[in-house]
Amino acid sequence: MTKTQGRSDVLTVSSRHRTDAIDITELVQERVTEAGVGDGLCTVYVAHTTAGVFINENADPDVPHDLLATLDHLVPWERNYRHAEGNAAAHIKASLIGTSQSIPVRANRLELGRWQGIFFAEFDGPRERQVHVSVIGR
Ligand code: ZN
Repeated sequence: MTKTQGRSDVLTVSSRHRTDAIDITELVQERVTEAGVGDGLCTVYVAHTTAGVFINENADPDVPHDLLATLDHLVPWERNYRHAEGNAAAHIKASLIGTSQSIPVRANRLELGRWQGIFFAEFDGPRERQVHVSVIGR
């Protein structure tokens, strides 16, 4: 029988604009280090309907910029949406990006590619958000 150990934490992220991408890679790695499970899996989960999380290049800040700009183009803020709250575009973008990512952990390090970073994606900011980080070991 395998003993499973783990840890779950909540990060608070403050977005600065209506649409924003915030690199949370180091914050997530800190939680993985604290969990100390050795080898396992880290899940990053956003419990919001107008925000998400994605993994992509964090070396060139133009990459997340272009990603958000393209989403703005594909899903304009103003359109004849039915959702009366006025933020339908944010809901749609959140569903396109998704609410979680799972990253393998080896020797207490996130197994990200050389150019990969984890980004919190805001689509209806600015506001304070919560990101759940769960680390389980095997
Ligand atoms: Zn809404």
